[in-house]
Amino acid sequence: MSGCQVNLEPLPRRNRPILSIRARLIVLALLAITPLMLERVHGLEKARAERTERAHSDVIELARRGVEAQREIIYTVRALVQIVSRVYVKMPPEPSTCNQYMTDLTSNIPWIRNLSIAGTDGRIKCSNDSLAIGLNVSDRPHFQDALTSREFALSDYMINRLNQVPSVIATFPVIKDDGSLGGVVLAVINLQWIGDLAATAANHSGASVLLLDGGGSLIAGSPDQEAYLGKRFVQYALTQQMLANDEGSITAPGFDGVNRIFAYVRVPWTKARLAVGLDENAVHSGIDHEIDFAYLQLIVFGLFVLLVAWFGGEQLVVRPIRSLVRTAARFGRGDLDARASQEPWVAEFAPLAAALDDMAAKLAAREEELQIANEHLEELASLDGLTGLANRRAFDRQIEREWQRAREQRKPLALMMVDIDHFKLFNDRYGHVAGDTCLRAVGETLSLVTLEEAVLVGRYGGEEFALLLPGLDVERAAALADEARKAVEDLFINHAESPCSYVTISVGVESMVPEKYQTAADLIEAADNALYDAKHRGRNNVVAHIRPFLRAAS
Ligand code: GH3
Ligand code: MG
Ligand code: MG
Repeated sequence: MSGCQVNLEPLPRRNRPILSIRARLIVLALLAITPLMLERVHGLEKARAERTERAHSDVIELARRGVEAQREIIYTVRALVQIVSRVYVKMPPEPSTCNQYMTDLTSNIPWIRNLSIAGTDGRIKCSNDSLAIGLNVSDRPHFQDALTSREFALSDYMINRLNQVPSVIATFPVIKDDGSLGGVVLAVINLQWIGDLAATAANHSGASVLLLDGGGSLIAGSPDQEAYLGKRFVQYALTQQMLANDEGSITAPGFDGVNRIFAYVRVPWTKARLAVGLDENAVHSGIDHEIDFAYLQLIVFGLFVLLVAWFGGEQLVVRPIRSLVRTAARFGRGDLDARASQEPWVAEFAPLAAALDDMAAKLAAREEELQIANEHLEELASLDGLTGLANRRAFDRQIEREWQRAREQRKPLALMMVDIDHFKLFNDRYGHVAGDTCLRAVGETLSLVTLEEAVLVGRYGGEEFALLLPGLDVERAAALADEARKAVEDLFINHAESPCSYVTISVGVESMVPEKYQTAADLIEAADNALYDAKHRGRNNVVAHIRPFLRAAS
């Protein structure tokens, strides 16, 4: 191959693209799926936030409902203790009937566990619970509150001395008509409502209920909190925040260590706080699982997209490009019959394949033209410009080939060396142009005479000719040479300077069956010697084997 080779060397490093086509496809695919991924994750995170929000509103609703129930109970109790106080002033019952009176009053009010009247000294004089008679409550703050404020008062939540259950005590002073104090009515309020609230809350959403007193002790709660009843939890962030505010919400560990979403409300007239909490894990259990699953889905989907982009890129882009490169490489190696369009191409690659084929076709045509031109040049380079015969270069090549062939076939190869006699004088006399004409005429005559026998009639140099005659032994070659000599003589080209008056030639002939030790140069030398001898012998004759063969009669 010549100058039409396709150079497929790798691009210089600085011209290489930063990302391969496949890498770009992957980037594109990732760019395409990222918004989808983000949208899905965002949706789930939003749903999670909504759930948290809903849990918050659920617990605050439950806490408020509980406190509202307590408020109503306290209103009822307040009305009751006021009536008892007034009745006691107006018509104080006998001590024996007083207890029955109290029992009757409370029998229809389930949330009052105990209804008693204490004297100003703090000793209980009358009660629906006989065990309470004689008990001294003068040290209780709510008792003192009622005496000093002369108003309705409510204790903090406390553990009852009689039965060790948490309770709240409502008090109202007995004010006689003269304005003096006659004692205090005490009503122990049952915390049954907490249980009801806990049951409602548990049914509703699995919530835990906590009732903390002003000192941070758990005085009541839903059944799951029973183990912590009576204990103080001041060190808890939950407790601290609850006691610092009347109402609020917090997500914090409960006393059992479970993270909960709490809402709390202060119980009216008390320092107590009612809290309702939902297990955060339970609130988020479904959604967290869904979010995890969504992330997993996204990873799997992302990997799938990457694989599709990688193998799709390989199949749809890289493979066709490689195939085109292979075809181009075949062109490069000189296989101009290779065609890219033999394969089915996608629309985008078809023009490229067609362009490659077009290029290959043009290269092939150019190659053919070049070959013809080369052959023509080769031919021109092996011809003698003046006579149109083979030149010395062509003779040198041909004699080597013929010599080889003769050696292989063990056949003779004859060589005639021809020289025009007194040609210098001819030139001198008739001029160079006439000399050229003479040279052409002699060459033509030599060709015509040896038309069948000679494989090459060449101009050996100046006015010398050489003829290659394969298969001719020296006798036949000499005979033919003499025919040629005669033919030239018979041209009757005037040559006033020559003894013959016409242009004549001398011929040296040799024929050899090549031996191993011999070369073509030996044949040339022998023929040359014969020619020299012919000249020496007077010209216009033929000498073979350095023996005069024939001599023109002159
Ligand atoms: P001889 O008989 O011994 O061969 O004598 P000669 O004069 O032929 O030989 P010589 O070698 O002295 O002269 C050869 C001449 O051939 C000299 C040169 O002018 C002439 N010659 C060589 N090539 C050309 C050519 O291409 N055209 C012309 N016109 N003359 C040429
Ligand atoms: Mg000569
Ligand atoms: Mg000569």
